[in-house]
Amino acid sequence: MKILNIFYSTFLNKCPRCHEGKVFEQNNPYRLSDMFKTNKTCSHCELKYEKEPNFFYGAMYVSYALTSGWFIVWFFIDLLYLHMETLNFALFITLSIIALSPLTIRLSRLMWLNFFNKFDKHYLKKEITNV
Ligand SMILES: [Zn+2]
Repeated sequence: MKILNIFYSTFLNKCPRCHEGKVFEQNNPYRLSDMFKTNKTCSHCELKYEKEPNFFYGAMYVSYALTSGWFIVWFFIDLLYLHMETLNFALFITLSIIALSPLTIRLSRLMWLNFFNKFDKHYLKKEITNV
């Protein structure tokens, strides 16, 4: 199922095409010194991750959508259940978005990569021959 392939690749830091190689060098997004270190190609299928210069700039749109979704969900939780003061809510949203930004950046880049590369079972495990 396509959506499960995208989730697998996105949440486990795996190459979108073969699900074997890692996209980011480190699995921990909160290791801030290595936050943006992306492998150039997949170690398994040799997929080139950055297709053109500044390819990952497009991930900002995905990041914007994720952050907006976070805000909308908490807006309705507050509206229906929490009833926080406006200033407290703004502070909570701002701080939570800042705290989640390493995770958001990573997920948005992996999702952006999945938009342009589809999973291909021929690249799984050791099945690579002359593809
Ligand atoms: Zn790969």
